[in-house]
Amino acid sequence: MSSFVVHYDDTLRPLVESLQCTLKEYLPGTLWAPVTKLEQVRPGGFALLSAEHIRPEDLPLIAARCTLVLVKDWSLNLCNEWLNRGASACLSDENVEKLAAELLTQRRLQEAASAARGDGEILQAVIDAVPVPIFYKDEHHIYRGCNVAFHEFIGLPQEKVVGHSVFDVAPADLAQRYYEADETLLEQRGCQRYEAPVRYADGSFRDIEFHKAVFFKPDGRVGGQVGVMLDVTERNQLMHKLEKFSHTDPLTGTGNRREFDAVAHRELRRHRSKQMALSLLVMDVDHFKQINDTWGHPVGDQALRFLVDQCHSQLRENDRLFRAGGEEFFMVLPQTDVNQARSVADRLCAHMRKQVLRLDDAEIRMTVSIGVIELTRGASLEDALDLADQALYKAKREGRDRVSVAET
Ligand code: GH3
Ligand code: MG
Ligand code: MG
Repeated sequence: MSSFVVHYDDTLRPLVESLQCTLKEYLPGTLWAPVTKLEQVRPGGFALLSAEHIRPEDLPLIAARCTLVLVKDWSLNLCNEWLNRGASACLSDENVEKLAAELLTQRRLQEAASAARGDGEILQAVIDAVPVPIFYKDEHHIYRGCNVAFHEFIGLPQEKVVGHSVFDVAPADLAQRYYEADETLLEQRGCQRYEAPVRYADGSFRDIEFHKAVFFKPDGRVGGQVGVMLDVTERNQLMHKLEKFSHTDPLTGTGNRREFDAVAHRELRRHRSKQMALSLLVMDVDHFKQINDTWGHPVGDQALRFLVDQCHSQLRENDRLFRAGGEEFFMVLPQTDVNQARSVADRLCAHMRKQVLRLDDAEIRMTVSIGVIELTRGASLEDALDLADQALYKAKREGRDRVSVAET
């Protein structure tokens, strides 16, 4: 903090000498500078003036300085007059001790204000250094501060954020959502975490996770809330991708065994509650090992993708195909009884028998064997799959390229 300089009206020299004496111990290092006009004191500086010698041109400058006015016959009324003109204090020029106490008080107030300003600057520098957007609002949800990352994020300068409401800053529908979240937080106190879309400075929207907490004033009342915004757009995209991968077969793009379990159980519940027919097909490629052995594994992969495309071309809109593993596939046929399921399977079998996968140096034909089952009431999915599997192996035993219906 800079040294303390007390400017004084030159006519007050004798009084100042005794003041210096009184204050030596309490305000060491104070500089005392005589002035002839208030203009010589910088704004915010200390000035000790005698009311008698204040010139009209000094009057407008009084409020911009810390001006202590000394009067001959002090009265509350006179004091009030000088305070109304912007003086920091008005005292009698006879009581040196009171004057010393006032100077000491003003000095302490100045130090406290300067420390508070310093704290504010440090706080601002600290939050500006944090690379994620930070903001704080008062108890009326008015923005009272934010960091550089925040105003860069929303594309508004600090002065268009601080002192403004969310309705000044965000599009109306989003502002309403933020405002309601703010109200809930202040009511419930503690912390709050939620995700919401936020409009970027460039107009794009990002998924933002807000972490907010209530802060309190020194007297314990709610002061407002502080929030941090984490951009979780990439994380969400990755999660959706992973979610998709977790139920998709990477080779053929069809649902995998996990997805089959989910879909089949869902359909089974519908079958039970709505008493709708439900059938399953279990399909296996005949002599697939020979395709791999003859043409190589990559061609085998191509053949599996071809098979999936062909199946999709034959299935109805609500039928679902899943790769159960290797060259074995499951199909879920909702609202389908055993006779309809059998004709779907026959159609598939006949269709595959006629198809040729033409490659540069190969012509590949494939046949399939299919086990069919219609679920009966009370049957478990596992039991139904077992029976369909037995039917499939019966079809294999009986010569392949055929359909066999499970005995239930
Ligand atoms: P069957 O008529 O009795 O079903 O004879 P198959 O040759 O089809 O039966 P087997 O179970 O002996 O062989 C299945 C073959 O499928 C063996 C395995 O290498 C192959 N296979 C499993 N998964 C894949 C895959 O992802 N890609 C390729 N190219 N081949 C696979
Ligand atoms: Mg096979
Ligand atoms: Mg097999």
